[in-house]
Amino acid sequence: MTRIVQFIKAAFFLEFIKAFFLAMKYFFAPKATINYPFEKGPLSPRFRGEHALRRYPNGEERCIACKLCEAICPAQAIVIEAEPREDGSRRTTRYDIDMTKCIYCGLCQEACPVDAIVEGPNFEYATETREELFYDKDRLLANGDRWEREIAMNLKKDAPYR
Ligand code: SF4
Ligand code: SF4
Repeated sequence: MTRIVQFIKAAFFLEFIKAFFLAMKYFFAPKATINYPFEKGPLSPRFRGEHALRRYPNGEERCIACKLCEAICPAQAIVIEAEPREDGSRRTTRYDIDMTKCIYCGLCQEACPVDAIVEGPNFEYATETREELFYDKDRLLANGDRWEREIAMNLKKDAPYR
């Protein structure tokens, strides 16, 4: 009986030693997790996040109201209305995206001939209500203004592969 108890004790001790070394191995190994939201992981330049409408450096809207993005959107999430301006240029009077319909396929961005509508790097835009996900032109242009530096950098990085 004493020998059986000694055997069990030795087996437990062996398991403890194995577990201790396993714990030490992972204690000193690089961490697999990050302390979000204080730390953020890397994002691909092709990451498809929140939509934005871009401007040229002089402040003029890039969008020429060709409606290709509206036509190609498989979720029919984009609604555009347009009118000619006094100077003869054509610009949108309404540019809405229903983000509750969007499937983040990126086709609007692909179709745009002037890189106006893009899916930017922002992924932190959760809302408490549905209504907040109905984006209008002002909201999209404000996103463009806010993220232009990152968007331009990502487009540049991705350009050689396109
Ligand atoms: S990402 Fe796709 S689904 Fe979303 S608005 Fe653009 S084309 Fe439509
Ligand atoms: S965002 Fe681009 S594709 Fe869409 S209407 Fe404007 S110019 Fe055309």
